[in-house]
Formats: sequence, structure tokens, C-alpha cells
Amino acid sequence: MAEIREVRKIESQERASIHSHISGLGVDESGKPKFKANGLVGQIEAREAAWVVVQLIKQGKMAGKGILLVGPPGTGKTALAVGIARELGEDTPFNTLNASEIYSVDLKKTEVLTQAIRKSIGVRVRQRRLVYEGVVKEVRMKVARSKLNPYVQMPREAEIKLATKDEEKTLTAGESIAEQFNRLGIRKGDVIWIDAETGNVVKVGRAKEIEGAKSYDIDSVRSVEIPGGPVKKEKELTNTLTLYDLDLSLAAQSISITALFSLWSEREISQDIRKQVDSYVKDLISKGNGELIPGVLFIDDAHMLDMETFSFLTKALEAELAPILVLATNRGTTKIRGAEVEAPHGMPLDLLDRLLIITTRPYSKEESKEIISIRAEELDVELDQSALEELTNLSQSESLRYAIQLLEPSLIVAKRAGRNVVKADDVREASRLFVDVKKSVKYVKEYENLFLK
Ligand code: ATP
Repeated sequence: MAEIREVRKIESQERASIHSHISGLGVDESGKPKFKANGLVGQIEAREAAWVVVQLIKQGKMAGKGILLVGPPGTGKTALAVGIARELGEDTPFNTLNASEIYSVDLKKTEVLTQAIRKSIGVRVRQRRLVYEGVVKEVRMKVARSKLNPYVQMPREAEIKLATKDEEKTLTAGESIAEQFNRLGIRKGDVIWIDAETGNVVKVGRAKEIEGAKSYDIDSVRSVEIPGGPVKKEKELTNTLTLYDLDLSLAAQSISITALFSLWSEREISQDIRKQVDSYVKDLISKGNGELIPGVLFIDDAHMLDMETFSFLTKALEAELAPILVLATNRGTTKIRGAEVEAPHGMPLDLLDRLLIITTRPYSKEESKEIISIRAEELDVELDQSALEELTNLSQSESLRYAIQLLEPSLIVAKRAGRNVVKADDVREASRLFVDVKKSVKYVKEYENLFLK
């Protein structure tokens, strides 16, 4: 097989994120949210509104509009945005930016936003390719110590056994492909498609996402989904890339290696490259080989944007190629950054006028309890009833986020005492070690005179 040219990264951060338990908005067939489903609990009105937004996006009726999620800290604004993304499916680009990220030393604020916008617009490219298609039965990896760092083992060669209903085939791949398998975390039970010419893994169906497959056990997957034969066949492949992916690959093609390094350090992309990509995409669409997929750009802590970027975003909403903008804030009336005027949520009225606003409210004790137990399960932290009660009380007296943060420290405390199940005492001990914000502020006040001025 030839060298790899392009791989879609699977963000490891995303897998481990604090919202990994959310798999959708948890609504029934009639669009009504269930109390607890898809990892989401309560917040019924906001989830119902978010579901309506998903329908509007799917019907292409959100062009030029955006969403504003408003509510106190820790009330699930980001969780809702993640729920929207999961409902839209993995083909729809979903890109998250914290507003503070626009204040970069290397890049102009508008460049950061332009890149974020282009990461949120997908292009689905259709092409007929010869591929190997099958369920992974076995992956063997030969590893060797890295020359640069002898403590690191690098994949050197991969052997992959692919099976369909009728056929089985073993493919061997060189170093770069082995590294690709390693990076993508390809496991037994995944359904994969490998480009027969380039050796690129063009698509991976995750074993855990295949209905009925409880583990990475090949037998449980086999009974659910296994492509028919033969292993090598011609297939129409769709590949969703973002405009930003295309900008980067064109930039990489058109400059020297030295320039490429400086480009990456500054990460600035020229308007000329963007224009070329736009006309390539238009051409692809007019020939029927591709389509545009407006994705979602989620900007958290949106009150931290300033006047200049707000007007940039307002204009961007009106552009021909615009993503769906989802903003979130936990501020009421506050000054717009970079201006002396106060405004609702620290945002100019002409932008607010274009936004549909969804509010989230603080959780009841019962809802908090459910959220804590979902997170505990996700993190493999086993709580006894008393520990769950203790954490629920902390979520009410301090904050839900604080209670969630204490889950893993509490497990370490329990393990130190030789137990795998967390008890109330472990939670109390963890909360003694790690104070919440109110206590830390009180502490600083108490000892104010001793701190360096
Ligand atoms: P902030 O204003 O501080 O950014 P936020 O409103 O975005 O806060 P989240 O980060 O979404 O709050 O919520 C805090 C934690 O609680 C996260 O782990 C989130 O996944 C979880 N969570 C919040 N609401 C729900 C819910 N309704 N169901 C399940 N989990 C939730």
C-alpha cells in the first residue's frame, strides 16, 4: 500500500471531555424531551427548543440566524450545544471556540474567527474509489523504539485482517499506515474502508457505535453488521472535509517546507488561498460531485467578544457560506467589551436581534442527583447511596460542577482506604482537600494581610 496522504483526526480530548456522556437531546418521536435520555437530564424546555433548532438546521432554515444560550454557570449550556451536535450527526461539522481564544498573540482576532467559521462549514465530496471494506478481525502492530526518544515505542508495521461475510483477507502496511491505525485507535470489531490505491483509512465505523455490540468482541459485531463480500470493491465514497481542511491542504501544496513551518507557527492563511478553495468548492458543487454542509460554530463565554468581533460575526451571518452560530453566556446586563455601553448579555442589539434565545435554569436536587450519577457511571466511579447523597448536597450548597469535579478525587481517597466503592466519608475527605470557590475566596479574605501585595 502507498503512503498516507490525509487522515481525519479523532480528537482524544473530545472522547475524554466532561460532556462525553451526552449522545443526543433525548427526545421522543414527537419531539418531546424525556426526563432522562441520551445522557441528558431535566432542562426540559431548553431541550425542546434545542430540538426545534435541530429541525430548522436540518431543513436549511437557520441561514443567517443564530442561537444564544443564556443561563447561570453549570446549567448545561455547553451540554445542550453538544446535544445539538450529536443530533446533527458526525457528518455535520461542530466547532467549539471559547471567546477568550480570539485574543491570541500570533493572530488577528478576525483571523481566529475566520478560521473557526471555515472549520464549521463542511464540504461533502463524492468520488468512486477502489477500497478494501470489512470488519477488523485482528490488528498486529510491530513496534520499535523511536530514534528521537528511546522511551517512546513507534509503530513500524501493521498487519490487519479484514473480514466480510464471504471472505477474509490480510493486508500488510508500512510505517506511516501503521502509525495511522495507531492514531485512529482501530480495534477489533471496527468496520473500516481502506483506499486500495493510497492505503488511507477513509472511514471507520466504531465497534462501540454499532448497535448491539457491547464490547469490542468480534462475535457480537459479526451478528450485527458485517459488509458483504468481496473485501476489495469499487464504492462511492463520501468524504466530509471542512473549508479549513481544504485551505490547509492547498496552503501545504503551494509553499515550501520552510514556509510551511512558519505558516504553522503563525497559522495565518492568505485570502488568496481561501478564494481558490471557494472556487474549487463551487466547481465541485456545479459538477454534482459535492455539496455544502453548514455546520455549527459554538462560541462559549460569548460576552468576552468585543465590539469589533461582534460586528464581524453579524456580517459573517449574512455571508453566502455561513455556519449556524451558537453563542452561550452566563452574564446578564454588562458592558460590551471595547465599548462604554452596557447591553443585555454584553452584546450589541443588532446581533441580538438575529438570535433565537434559549434559557437554562438551575437544577433541582433530583436533577443534580441524576446528573452526578450519570457522570459517575461515565467515569467508572462506583458510589454508594451515602456518597451520592453527599455529592448531591454539595451540588446544592456549592455547585453542580464542584460536585462533579470531586468524583475522581473521591475514588482515589476510597482506593487509598482499600475500597473500590466510594462512601460519604471519601467525598467529605476529597471536599476537605479541594475547596470550592466560595471557600477559597473566604480563605484569601481571612489571610489577606499575609499575601504579597
Ligand atoms: P458555564 O456557564 O460555566 O460555561 P454551562 O452552563 O455551559 O456552564 P455545562 O458545562 O454544560 O454548564 O455543565 C456542567 C456539567 O454538568 C458538564 O459536565 C455537563 O455535561 C453536565 N450537565 C449539565 N447539564 C446537564 C444535563 N441536563 N444532563 C446531563 N448532564 C448535564
